[in-house]
Amino acid sequence: MKMPMIKTKLPGPKARALIDIDNKYVSPSYTRSYPFVARKARGLWMEDTDGNLFLDFTAGIAVCATGHCHPQVVDAIKKQADMLLHMSGTDFYYPSQIRLAEKLVSIAPGKKPKKVYFGNSGAEAVEAAFKLARWHTRRELNIAFFGAFHGRTMGALSLTASKTIQKKHYNPLVPGITHIPYAYCYRCPYHLTYPKCDVYCAHWIEDTLFRTTIPPEEVAAIIVEPIQGEGGYVSPPPEFHQTLYRIAKNYGILYVVDEVQSGMGRTGKMFAIDHFDVVPDIIALAKGIASGMPLGALIAMADIMDWEAGSHASTFGGNPVSCRAALATIDLLEKELIANADVQGRRLEQGLRQMQEEHECIGDVRGKGLMLGAELVKDRESKKPAAKLRNAIIAKSFEKGLLLLGCGANTMRFSPALTVSADEIDACLSIIDDVIKALTR
Ligand code: PLP
Repeated sequence: MKMPMIKTKLPGPKARALIDIDNKYVSPSYTRSYPFVARKARGLWMEDTDGNLFLDFTAGIAVCATGHCHPQVVDAIKKQADMLLHMSGTDFYYPSQIRLAEKLVSIAPGKKPKKVYFGNSGAEAVEAAFKLARWHTRRELNIAFFGAFHGRTMGALSLTASKTIQKKHYNPLVPGITHIPYAYCYRCPYHLTYPKCDVYCAHWIEDTLFRTTIPPEEVAAIIVEPIQGEGGYVSPPPEFHQTLYRIAKNYGILYVVDEVQSGMGRTGKMFAIDHFDVVPDIIALAKGIASGMPLGALIAMADIMDWEAGSHASTFGGNPVSCRAALATIDLLEKELIANADVQGRRLEQGLRQMQEEHECIGDVRGKGLMLGAELVKDRESKKPAAKLRNAIIAKSFEKGLLLLGCGANTMRFSPALTVSADEIDACLSIIDDVIKALTR
C-alpha cells in the first residue's frame, strides 16, 4: 500500500521561507490549519515544495472531484486555452458555455425546462440564487439555517450562520433573513429523537414561525444545504427535506438548495438532494463542478429564471476554460466517478464506524458517499465537543503526511477526490487510527 513520505521536518526549509513571505504579503484572514505548501499533485497525491509526499483527503476543500490534475481535465483546459481564453458570456456567445448550460440542465433533477446562470464561485452562485428568488417572487423574506455556510459576499454571508467570526464587524447585513435550527439529529436542538420526532424541526416552520413572526406569503425562499458542509457534515433524515419542500410549496416559497459542497457526485449521486426525492426550484453549484477551475452555476426552473437582460451578470462568469473543464469533469463523473464515490464512500464509512467502536472519542459518524464527517467528543455520555482533540488529530495527521480539514466546531471532514481507491481509503484510516491511539493513550 502506497503511503505518504515525509523526509523533512514540517514545514521544510523551502516551505518555511515561502510562508515567511506569505505572512508579510498575504491577507491574514485566511484560516490555514497547518503549514502545507503545495508544489504539484496528481490524483490524491501531493508534493510540497520540499519534496514530501502527502495523501490528500481534502481535495482542496471538496473541489478537485476528479483528483488533482486529471489528464482528461488538463487536456480539455489546454485545448480551450489554445482556442479562446475569454470573451465574457455577459455580452457575447461561445460554445463551451452554451454546451455546459445544456449539459447541466440535462443532469439536474426534474423534467421541467431549466436555465443556467454562470458566476465564478460558490458565493456568487448563492448570491445569484438570493437575487433571483427576490426577482421572481417580489417577496423580501428568506429562511436559512443555523450551521449553514453559503459564502462570504454580503448577501451570501447574510444567509450564512456557521461561525460568528465570519460575521464579526460586518453588520448590518441584508435584512429579512430568519435562521432556524437544522436537522442535526446527533445534537437535536429540540432534544428529540428521530424518527419519533416526526421531523419536528421542519414542521416548526409552519407550526410556530408562520403563526408568530413571519407571514409565509412574504417569504421568497427557503435556502438550505442538502447536507450541511462547513457546519459539520450534518446529514439530515429524508423527511426533513421532504417536509420543508411540502411547506414551501404550500405557500409559493421557492426551494433553493446550495449544492456547492455536496453536489457534483460527491455523495454517490450527482446531487445530494437526489437522495431525498425532492426536486428543488433552484440549485447553486461551484467547487467540484470544474475540478479546480473557478466556476459557479445556478440552475433554475425556466419559468423561475425570468429576470430581464441587465438584471444580473458577471464579466468572468462562465469562463470558456472553466466551462470546458466542467464538461470534462461531468463526463468523468457520469462514466465512473459517481459510482466510485458510492463504493469507496461505503468503505470509508465502514472503516470510520469500526474505528468508532474502538475509540470512545468518536461520537458520531455521518454523511453520504465521500462527504463524511466524524464528530469528536470528550465522552459518549456527555457528548461534550472535543475541539482541541479534533485539531490535534488533524495536526498530527499532517505530520504523518495525511491532509485533512475540520468542519463544524469538532468534526473531522473526509472529502477526498472521487477517484479515491480502496488502498488510499485504507491508508487514510490506518494513519488516523494510529494518530488517535497516540493522542488518547
Ligand atoms: N456554499 C457552500 C455549501 C459552501 O460549502 C461554500 C464554501 O465552502 C460556499 C457556498 C461558498 O463557496 P466559495 O468559497 O466558492 O465562495
